[in-house]
Amino acid sequence: MTSLPHLHRLLRRRGYRLTPQRRVILQVLNSLDGHLTVEHIHRAVAERLPGVDLSTVYRAVRLLSRLGVLDRHELAEGGAVYELHREACHGHFVCEQCGQVLHLESGPLEAVRHAVRHVGTTVRKLSVTVVGTCARCGQSRTGTRRTRAAPAGPGR
Ligand SMILES: [Zn+2]
Ligand SMILES: [Zn+2]
Repeated sequence: MTSLPHLHRLLRRRGYRLTPQRRVILQVLNSLDGHLTVEHIHRAVAERLPGVDLSTVYRAVRLLSRLGVLDRHELAEGGAVYELHREACHGHFVCEQCGQVLHLESGPLEAVRHAVRHVGTTVRKLSVTVVGTCARCGQSRTGTRRTRAAPAGPGR
């Protein structure tokens, strides 16, 4: 996990001030360790900075992702989500049942990045998103019958 002081220095080096909004956005993404939409980020930021409006958060998030502090991913129909930038390439697994986002092992993606070296010089974006059923949801469907009644899903 990237440390917050590191992110603060990075912003300052690029000539941007660490406004309260930007600081709280970084704190939120750091503490929730998640893949959050701008609306989610705004809700969490507004708890700490009452009255902050969505467009302010939106602009700050756009700036932070342009600076490479945040990564933006288009994962599913839910729209773009943001997370703190990670050095290692990583792919995402999105569970259709519960909506949680998990990270894939980076090994195979690093191999792809390596393969690109023969034809290109830099990789700006390497994106892999797998949509399916996570282990937990898969278990609750096929494992021993739990007491919790499963919602009636669409038939085949
Ligand atoms: Zn799931
Ligand atoms: Zn991620």
